[in-house]
Amino acid sequence: MSKADPAQDWLLKRAQLALNGSYAEVVSNTSLTPLEALEAMAAALGMLYRDAAEQHRQNGCVCGWAPNGLLDVLVLQRELMRHCGVDDDDELLDLVLAAPMGHG
Ligand SMILES: [Zn+2]
Repeated sequence: MSKADPAQDWLLKRAQLALNGSYAEVVSNTSLTPLEALEAMAAALGMLYRDAAEQHRQNGCVCGWAPNGLLDVLVLQRELMRHCGVDDDDELLDLVLAAPMGHG
């Protein structure tokens, strides 16, 4: 997270509790692997982002946030990597971020 804010800390703890509960329930009661469960949770976060961004694009907001899809996703990706303990110097990251052949 970019800044220490009590509201952000509170939200992190609350979201962590909610996600832990959903994760534990689905892993205990289904055949989903941990990664499949986490993938679905990441998809849900993406959908939440899309809805919030769309609301701000259509209606504006007093908070002043102007969604910028790619940059916003990079911020989210950075936080995911940081909290997953993934080293961003990893060579695999170069493969993930590399442009497909034939594209600039
Ligand atoms: Zn807003």
